[in-house]
Amino acid sequence: MKHFAKPFLVSAALCVATSLTAHAEIDVIGLKAAIETSVEADYPKLDALYKEIHAHPELAFEEVKTAARLAAEMRALGFEVTEKVGKTGLVAIYKNGDGPTIMVRTELDALPMEEKTGLAYASHDKTTWNGRETFVAHSCGHDIHMTSWVGTAKTLVGLKDQWHGTLMFIAQPAEEIGAGAKAMLADGLFTRFKKPDFGFALHDGPFPYGYVSYRAGIGSSNSDSLFIKFHGRGGHGAAPQRTIDPVMIAARFIVDVQSVISREKDPTEFGVVSIGAIHGGTAENIIPDDALLFGTIRTFKPEVRAKMLAGIERTAKAAAAMSDAPAPDIKITEGAKAVMNDPAVVATAEKVLKVAFGDKFRTSPPGTPSEDFSEFINAGVPSMFFNIGVYELERFVAANNGTGPELPSNHSPLFAPVPKPTIETGVKAMTLAVLSAFDQHARGK
Ligand SMILES: [Zn+2]
Ligand SMILES: [Zn+2]
Repeated sequence: MKHFAKPFLVSAALCVATSLTAHAEIDVIGLKAAIETSVEADYPKLDALYKEIHAHPELAFEEVKTAARLAAEMRALGFEVTEKVGKTGLVAIYKNGDGPTIMVRTELDALPMEEKTGLAYASHDKTTWNGRETFVAHSCGHDIHMTSWVGTAKTLVGLKDQWHGTLMFIAQPAEEIGAGAKAMLADGLFTRFKKPDFGFALHDGPFPYGYVSYRAGIGSSNSDSLFIKFHGRGGHGAAPQRTIDPVMIAARFIVDVQSVISREKDPTEFGVVSIGAIHGGTAENIIPDDALLFGTIRTFKPEVRAKMLAGIERTAKAAAAMSDAPAPDIKITEGAKAVMNDPAVVATAEKVLKVAFGDKFRTSPPGTPSEDFSEFINAGVPSMFFNIGVYELERFVAANNGTGPELPSNHSPLFAPVPKPTIETGVKAMTLAVLSAFDQHARGK
């Protein structure tokens, strides 16, 4: 999310673009004030919710307590809640007369990693993941999203004389493994419940709080998971001539595969491959029989993706052949597709959010992370996915000037959003985006 750095450095000042007010059909300034008052009054409860979820995160498809907590919150607001949609997902419906159905999605899951923020509400929880014990942490900020989601629901219910239609708030499991959106769809999300007319989701990132970034068109990358098993022949570390060393083959592959990026792919096109895990061996003096690699491949365009997959496979086979080893097992699993933001939905929200956020509402290049929110879009829901910042502006500026430390990004053990202004921005931006879609629909567009 480094690409946020430069645009935000240009101007830090709040600049409400009052000249744009005329383009917005709803009273954005009035609504913004009403939302701010509502969030301020609700904040102590939202803060407690955020810190509880943060301290007790749950991994993909295990979000049982998290889902139960959100279900209780939504029922208390008058939503009709259905649990266990797509294993641990929730669907919360609120009907308020004739009008479109608008979906707002949050994720539920956390990451198998240790939190090292030292915060009073940091997670110390552990669980078992892929057969190993691991810490669990909300280091992607899905807890910020859940809290903003509840806050948005509360605010929209409070403003129900301002809109007509149906709210469809969904809490999706297993975003981090790219499986939760598919699971909800397979469990009848758009058949047991009405397919929404529009959809919205937000994600936090390491830029200043109070800022919102967005774009029409491609918003995030295609994701593929890579699994390779290099086969060797185990033996004594002191007699490598009698072995085929799979650790060395793996090491060679890890370095050589980057030449697919630097020498085969068009340098002007986005594509990245990262090896995130390597498992092999048990002791310093034993050459193991095999070595396992797990990685991720990210691209924007199908032709770049095809070229990279072919290059990665060829490089793996060549690395094994150089050691006269058997061919490796290679498995590439297609994950989330790129999120395509609908230009009309974005244009409608843009008019309102520009008035509300002024210069703090900005376009940004597509993000290189991936998002299975794309599943809902590809199932036919025109949508907008946008980002909100989490850090103090001064720290952000200092980090970019080189006068302060780097700010931890999502998936860092040190990722630590400043809760109040981040959640308040999430609620404000999401509430206004939803209201913009209801308003546009009400005016017959
Ligand atoms: Zn994540
Ligand atoms: Zn995330």
